Amino acid sequence: MFQVNENYLKLPGSYLFATIARKSREYSQAHPDRRLISLGIGDVTQPLAPAIIQAMHEAVDEMGRAETFHGYAPELGYEFLRNVIAKQDYADRGCQVEPDEIFISDGAKGDCGNIQEIFAEDSRVAVCDPVYPVYVDSNVMAGRTGDYDAKTGTWSRVIYMPCTAENGFVPQLPEETPDLIYLCVPNNPTGTALNREQLKVWVDYANKAGAVILYDAAYEAYISDADVPHSIYEIEGARTCAIEFRSFSKNAGFTGVRLGFTVVPKDLMCGDVHVRDLWARRHGTKFNGAPYIIQKAAMAVYSEEGKAQLKEQVAYYMRNAKLIYDGMKAAGYEVYGGVNAPYIWVKVPEGMTSWDFFDYLLENANVIGTPGSGFGPSGEGYFRLTAFGSYENTVEAMKRIQALSK
Ligand code: PLP
Repeated sequence: MFQVNENYLKLPGSYLFATIARKSREYSQAHPDRRLISLGIGDVTQPLAPAIIQAMHEAVDEMGRAETFHGYAPELGYEFLRNVIAKQDYADRGCQVEPDEIFISDGAKGDCGNIQEIFAEDSRVAVCDPVYPVYVDSNVMAGRTGDYDAKTGTWSRVIYMPCTAENGFVPQLPEETPDLIYLCVPNNPTGTALNREQLKVWVDYANKAGAVILYDAAYEAYISDADVPHSIYEIEGARTCAIEFRSFSKNAGFTGVRLGFTVVPKDLMCGDVHVRDLWARRHGTKFNGAPYIIQKAAMAVYSEEGKAQLKEQVAYYMRNAKLIYDGMKAAGYEVYGGVNAPYIWVKVPEGMTSWDFFDYLLENANVIGTPGSGFGPSGEGYFRLTAFGSYENTVEAMKRIQALSK
């Protein structure tokens, strides 16, 4: 009789978004005259930029002609794309990443989840708390996280690095030494970014401790502060201790199109093993999960025309972020994030849990957000609002919330 991987059974149900959907649906059914506005989504809403659509059309036409047809993509991804990434995302920012250290994929989620497979089974994992849940979940499925304590919402073998208002949402060096350190910068959900000095502390620590930093820069395009690096490789010493994940989802609207990449520098070594060579053997390496048409479309992300159009899209979302940040402040809340990220992190009023606040906004303002507890135990007491909705809805949501506080 076959057996299932019991580690999967340890995963607590992903009830966060299911519960949000159920509560919203039930409210709508009971109040069909009310229009709900969601400021809870982590998905983009603006359509693909014209330069991307044009590149896609051209690539589709190429696929229809024998002379320009493309079959399986090369293992690391097409050279044309890796070259432009190496130049524009790295060399132009003064850091060294070679095209053959870049692995094109179908998005950051898969890479963030799968990267743990190339490390030892007993690796100790450290995560910021709260954070994007994929890092912990993938290690749970790999059997690395020990036992779950439902009361505290923590795993016994995971090293949690609380990020709260008390420490400015900046993770502190852990007391126990981890092997793998997940850093999400800018952070989903708190919106916090680490500046050069703060990041240097982590790079020095990882090199000294013999740990690897798994650096998720999915929201890099939203960075506005000049002292916040766009890549961890802008920090001296990062090539020997860090892997970086990038995504085209939030900067170019590729959440449905799917494209991302991971950088594994050749200088990252375990004894005489190049970690890069292990990642080259990862699942799906033969086809790298990203079709020619999509990799061609991504080239438009780096064209002058495409860059101008995408800058506008990011600016559109960040205008929403500022509206939410200012609007929640004006309504009397303690508010964080929203400057280097499309996420606004709100402290919920004393005496309420983050789910209480969800119900309060749903019932009184007909606005939907995301309870902070869904992102880790230290997320309790906070609430995430996102800038990915339409401008009009964002304005209306802020009006409704401010009316409540009058
Ligand atoms: N990393 C972070 C921090 C995210 O918030 C998300 C998506 O919300 C992803 C990665 C997933 O990116 P992708 O769409 O490229 O899989």
